[in-house]
Amino acid sequence: MTGPAVSPGDPLPISLVAHLVFCPRRAWIEAAGEATDTWQVAEGSAQHAATDDPSTARPAALRAIDVADEALGVVGRCDTVEVGPGGQLTVVEYKSSPVRHEPRVTDSMRIQLALQVGALRSAGHVVAGQAVYFTGHRVRVPVPLAEEDFAAARAAVAATHATVESLEAPQPLEDDPRCASCSHAEVCLPEERAGGPVVRRIVVADPDTQVVHLATAGSRASTRQGRLLVHARGEEIASLPLERVQGVVVHGNVDLSGGLIRELLWRSLSIVWCTGGGRVVGWALPGAGPNGAERVRQHEASAAGRLDLAREFVGAKIANQATLLRRNGQAASAAAAIRALGRRVPGARSATELLGLEGEAAAICFAHFSTMLSARARASGIEMRTRSGRPARDPVNAALNYVYALLLADVVRAVAACGLDPHAGFLHTSTRNKPALALDLCEEFRAPVADSVVLGAFNNGELRPGDFSDALGTTRLREAGRRSLIAAYERRVQTEFRHPVFGYRTTWRRAMEIQARMVLGVIDGSQARYVGIRTR
Ligand code: SF4
Repeated sequence: MTGPAVSPGDPLPISLVAHLVFCPRRAWIEAAGEATDTWQVAEGSAQHAATDDPSTARPAALRAIDVADEALGVVGRCDTVEVGPGGQLTVVEYKSSPVRHEPRVTDSMRIQLALQVGALRSAGHVVAGQAVYFTGHRVRVPVPLAEEDFAAARAAVAATHATVESLEAPQPLEDDPRCASCSHAEVCLPEERAGGPVVRRIVVADPDTQVVHLATAGSRASTRQGRLLVHARGEEIASLPLERVQGVVVHGNVDLSGGLIRELLWRSLSIVWCTGGGRVVGWALPGAGPNGAERVRQHEASAAGRLDLAREFVGAKIANQATLLRRNGQAASAAAAIRALGRRVPGARSATELLGLEGEAAAICFAHFSTMLSARARASGIEMRTRSGRPARDPVNAALNYVYALLLADVVRAVAACGLDPHAGFLHTSTRNKPALALDLCEEFRAPVADSVVLGAFNNGELRPGDFSDALGTTRLREAGRRSLIAAYERRVQTEFRHPVFGYRTTWRRAMEIQARMVLGVIDGSQARYVGIRTR
């Protein structure tokens, strides 16, 4: 669900003014076009459905009436307008109301009604009364309005203009009960912005959604009747509801129908294409992504340089490599050497210096990578002498390349979901058209997600030498090996861990979006600093 992105000069949606009264940051987030998919929104939409449908109107109760007050510069929609004797109107606003809560008329509801009534009066109608109908309780509460309510509504319109036209995001509320019922908490992250432990859990509408990997060579994916269908050799090999799709990753020679691409983008879902060998070759993102103004500021910050962010990306990556070695290998001295490099990160004076430290740490980590393989894996001939990158010279390098591409696809999706540009980074550069910000953010996830997946897949026998082919010294994953690796990767990113800063349990995939939103917070001014995830 996309919020009302607002440009200066546009009339303000009345709902946006009401949201400002609820919380200025909520109005700012909505005006930036943030999408939300929380249970509050789903429940509100379901309970609102009848009033949104003008065809359900009766002569005495008009539904979904559009109103505008041109002098004040607001537009909106009344859920129901009842027409009484003599044509006098009564405005009724429908609100979803969990029965455990008292059906209380809030300030934002009063302002919303005052603006709707003002708009109807400006069009020459006589309004005799107004009320809120609480759908959960099935209770109608009359709301008398006085002149001070209309004055407060005009002041709220002015405050909404000032807020949504500001470049700085309003600070989140602190320790405030409104956040518990706010449908935008998932993207606002009010407690996370304070940088300490978080007690509230974010509840999403459907935690069952999944990233769909299309990996069967020669298959074709399309959509029909709200489902994503995959066909190969004339047979349907997969079918799932589009509501369950969080994003799509296409591997190699798989065709997507135009209808499916359009439907995914319409649902604000991204598509990432990878080669069969695991190189991210492109992506498609919804055109109506949020935070356009912040994206411009991201580019400015990227051009000016933000060493504080770059240091965190490298510092967290190095710390996680040391943890990976300590947990899996016998090379305590290697972990200590990597940690020593990590201690030099806060003093680094340039991105070049940081990349030097990162390179030294990576060289130590990969020199000891084979020590983390099981005896059984090594006995089968699996080993890595050196990190060869592309082309891969052995199965471990081929698997690492592939999983790094899966990670990059996920991080591109997470970065784009909050409206940032995957390209404008702070550690990597875009000089070779690489998605620099996505690569920056990948760093802290490489050891705990990607490297762990590769080690686990070899050590538990999911990947064997037969899953690879060799041609003139280049090692490639066969399709069966790719499938095993994708399955292992999906298990890992859906695994929960305790976030070291916020203290709550979350999945690795959700953590990628949380960290992307922390970068956004630094850019839009709603938080002081970025802290990378460091595993212990
Ligand atoms: S979560 Fe809290 S601070 Fe954030 S928008 Fe909602 S009410 Fe405002």
